[in-house]
Amino acid sequence: MEAQDKAPINRRQFFLEGFSSFKDLAVDLLSIQFSLAQEGRLRPPGALEETAFLAVCTRCGKCVDACSYRAIKLVDAENGFAFRTPIISPRETPCYLCLECIPACPDGALLPLPKEKVRMGTAQLDRDACLAWQGHYCQTCVNRCPLSGSALVLEDLRNPVVNSEQCVGCGVCEYVCLTYPPAIRVKPQ
Ligand code: SF4
Ligand code: SF4
Ligand code: SF4
Repeated sequence: MEAQDKAPINRRQFFLEGFSSFKDLAVDLLSIQFSLAQEGRLRPPGALEETAFLAVCTRCGKCVDACSYRAIKLVDAENGFAFRTPIISPRETPCYLCLECIPACPDGALLPLPKEKVRMGTAQLDRDACLAWQGHYCQTCVNRCPLSGSALVLEDLRNPVVNSEQCVGCGVCEYVCLTYPPAIRVKPQ
């Protein structure tokens, strides 16, 4: 019995066990992404792809200090593996694309890029909830979008339409939308 306990782990067991913990990690990462997406929370501009971001970000909070708009917050304890990583909730405070957070990151988790190349997510508009598409006058989001005329345009001079190729996912449209809940929301990248 004792000899059996001490038997060396065979290759098949090793791979099965390795695969099982890899699976657990993948499920954990997917659930973090899902829960961040559900809550409409975005990573700061220039963030690495999510799995790499979680591995590289040391949770130092320097991007938070660098953001004079106070757009970046740290994830609270409920999100386990993502605890203390930086997020932006655009309905509370969107990103104003000053890009001051990027050079403040000492770990390479936020990479330098021009404003037009930022892809924090993509705005999605619910026409059934949008005042303009329902026949009322509203151009609030179009007037405030920093890339108005390219990322957010007016169809027939009155209805907003998102151009997903140009949208940087800053969340200003979500922040200013007059409806509750907002008719336009940014889906994280
Ligand atoms: S780009 Fe500017 S406003 Fe946006 S999160 Fe970074 S520091 Fe804050
Ligand atoms: S459509 Fe919204 S998220 Fe996209 S660039 Fe304009 S304001 Fe930002
Ligand atoms: S601000 Fe909201 S309600 Fe107004 S046009 Fe934009 S999406 Fe529609």
